[in-house]
Amino acid sequence: MDMDEEHCRICGYGEDGLTWESGWPTAGICSCCGTESGIGDMGEPGTWEGLQGIRNYRGYWVGNGARWHSPSLRPKDWDLLTQLGGIPPEWR
Ligand SMILES: [Zn+2]
Repeated sequence: MDMDEEHCRICGYGEDGLTWESGWPTAGICSCCGTESGIGDMGEPGTWEGLQGIRNYRGYWVGNGARWHSPSLRPKDWDLLTQLGGIPPEWR
């Protein structure tokens, strides 16, 4: 099973490189939602506890306007819903 993840579990952004590598967080900060892997996105795939926390965090971020952590990296044609569609199925 491939344990590497390159899409943010919270917002689906996929341009920051690996967020999780071999099942471990890379402690990178998401340029989009500002989540640090291993801090705001903990959870075992397939468990309710992890998914619940991730959904809460995602809802909070979107509810506050889905603001970019690094606004200069925001593409001109950025589309929130398209990006959210990139969230891996196990974290939706
Ligand atoms: Zn993110």
